[in-house]
Amino acid sequence: MDKVACGAFSDISAVAGRKRRDFCGLHTAPFRYSPRMHTEATFRPSEGLKHVRYEIRGRLARRAHELERQGYEIVSLNIGNPRAFGLRTPETMRLAMIENLAAAEGYCHQKGIFPAREAVVMQQQERGISGVTAEDVFIGNGVSELIDLTLRALLNDGDEVLVPSPDYPLWTAAVTLNRGRAVHYPCRPENGFVPDPAEVAHLCTARTRAIVVINPNNPTGAVYPRAVLEALARLAEERGLVVFSDEIYDQMTYDGAGFVPLATLVHDTLCATLAGLSKVYRACGYRVGWVAFSGRTSAAGDYLSALELLCSLRLCSNVLAQWAVQTALGGHQSVRELVAPRGRLHDSRAAILAAVQRSRFLTLAPPGGAMYAFVGVNPAVLPDFDDQRFALDLLEQKHVLVAPGVSFNVPYRNHFRVTNLPDASTLHKVFSRIEELLTEYATAPRPTAARGSVTPNVVGAAARFRQGLE
Ligand code: PLP
Repeated sequence: MDKVACGAFSDISAVAGRKRRDFCGLHTAPFRYSPRMHTEATFRPSEGLKHVRYEIRGRLARRAHELERQGYEIVSLNIGNPRAFGLRTPETMRLAMIENLAAAEGYCHQKGIFPAREAVVMQQQERGISGVTAEDVFIGNGVSELIDLTLRALLNDGDEVLVPSPDYPLWTAAVTLNRGRAVHYPCRPENGFVPDPAEVAHLCTARTRAIVVINPNNPTGAVYPRAVLEALARLAEERGLVVFSDEIYDQMTYDGAGFVPLATLVHDTLCATLAGLSKVYRACGYRVGWVAFSGRTSAAGDYLSALELLCSLRLCSNVLAQWAVQTALGGHQSVRELVAPRGRLHDSRAAILAAVQRSRFLTLAPPGGAMYAFVGVNPAVLPDFDDQRFALDLLEQKHVLVAPGVSFNVPYRNHFRVTNLPDASTLHKVFSRIEELLTEYATAPRPTAARGSVTPNVVGAAARFRQGLE
């Protein structure tokens, strides 16, 4: 142990002239306060974060950033950020904010501004969800904040929440952060990533408090059939579970896939529908989401008061961006052009489907909605495939960043997620690079990141990075 690292204790020793064994193994004086100790203490994170993960913005993303700073051009397909691929927020939403700039200077009600909440109520009514009033709607700084708050208001130590696997990993993280236990129900690739309600029922215990449904799904793009949603609704009603239906991709469906709002099927228990401006309205930087409660709200007075208390503690969500909600939800829905044939998202999804079709390595249950594809690698062709290693190799050697499947709480290691936000020609190039790498794997079954045409400093960093992953 060098003395520089233990400087504070050495100083004390010099002053007191008496010796004792300190944490660094040196003989020093009895403990006395020294101002320098402040700078040398170790600051440990909360134990509560030990099992909390969000790999989508984790080490791979940091490494990609590092490579970009070194001058490499990285195609980042790991995050569903429409703006990063040139998709703009509808102009009318920007105008609505400009018009209301002065009205956005103060705090607003903890649940959000009335016009925004009322616009959500009207959307719910149009979809056939009855009984929702502005009182049942809470606006948050993105759906992300509301995922945390709605769970925090509900869970006690050890309460269980049924969460899909694969999931959008914030759901698992937020259950864990709020002292609950995420119990994953499988949405298997061979079933088009649609869950089996009978299997979900088997996972219920006396501690189960809620079920999370993400439809259309991130990361798989699955759009659940009505019969499956009906069965999940009945299960929740029978067991008295709160239903959290994350419908942030509600208007993003392709080739006739039919989206059914779960709240239209849930009557005899509490249903929380979550959605927002981030995806359908391409305004993820505005940080606006909402949760609308329906079903047995009469039995949820205390819960909704607890949620309101949590909302009060953070005062309110971003007021300015809330002024865009009414404009967004009413009138022309430009997202429809993006997902219709010849629309940008439709065509880029088609490019992914075509690339998978051509590949001898890849498999894919065609995504019916959202803006992702959860691509599989055929284990019969590449039995040693490892999603994290692949994602790292693809980044280091081909300069493409994808999210390995393990980021989404799955037990298998042969999937990765890409977004179909880029245009079709970019995706075409990306999948050629993926194919190149997989072909290299096939000819040299256990490749390492250190192989390939990258510069030595990139290789060195890759090796260090890999150690971190293992
Ligand atoms: N829910 C799902 C399924 C998502 O995919 C995302 C973001 O990617 C969120 C919630 C968070 O959205 P927001 O930007 O509203 O916080």
